[in-house]
Amino acid sequence: MNDLIDFDVIDEYGPQTYRGTYDFSRDEIAREEVTDAGGNIVIEANVATGDAEAEYVADGNSRFTADLQCSRCLEPYPFAHTSAFHVRFRPRPEVSEENEEIEIAAAEELDVEFYSERTIPLRDLALEQIQLSIPMKPLCDESCLGLCPQCGANRSREACKCEALIVDERWDALKGIRDELQKKKNV
Ligand SMILES: [Zn+2]
Ligand SMILES: [Zn+2]
Repeated sequence: MNDLIDFDVIDEYGPQTYRGTYDFSRDEIAREEVTDAGGNIVIEANVATGDAEAEYVADGNSRFTADLQCSRCLEPYPFAHTSAFHVRFRPRPEVSEENEEIEIAAAEELDVEFYSERTIPLRDLALEQIQLSIPMKPLCDESCLGLCPQCGANRSREACKCEALIVDERWDALKGIRDELQKKKNV
């Protein structure tokens, strides 16, 4: 498996295609939402020289699968995300005031990354794509009802009694007001 992106090879032989399938542990992904099982990613990248000096451009797609914890009901659920990416690698500028500005300006272009080494493990690119794939607030389902704030029951799976009790309390309050009004009328 050819999974080490090598800019020298691209200079010599032209655009190269890299493919890989990787398992990442929960620690490597370092996101609370991922369950202990970690995740798996299939990635393919086509890397060619770019327009700028010593620039290389990677175009590709990835498919990430993992069990994530729902942010509403806290249950794990199977997650799969397919995404296309476009990354431009540029040489890291020497440290100087002038270059600092170049670096800041380029950093604002979201798809630019700086390299110091002329080889980049495809696995590193894969981990970046995983980070981009995981939603900020994972949901097992858009309509997930989450946990009952009163008793903690998963409301997507079981109807707890709390809601009914709350309604009863409101009804009692209304009934109280009605009784009060009734009393006033009778005065
Ligand atoms: Zn949920
Ligand atoms: Zn409840």
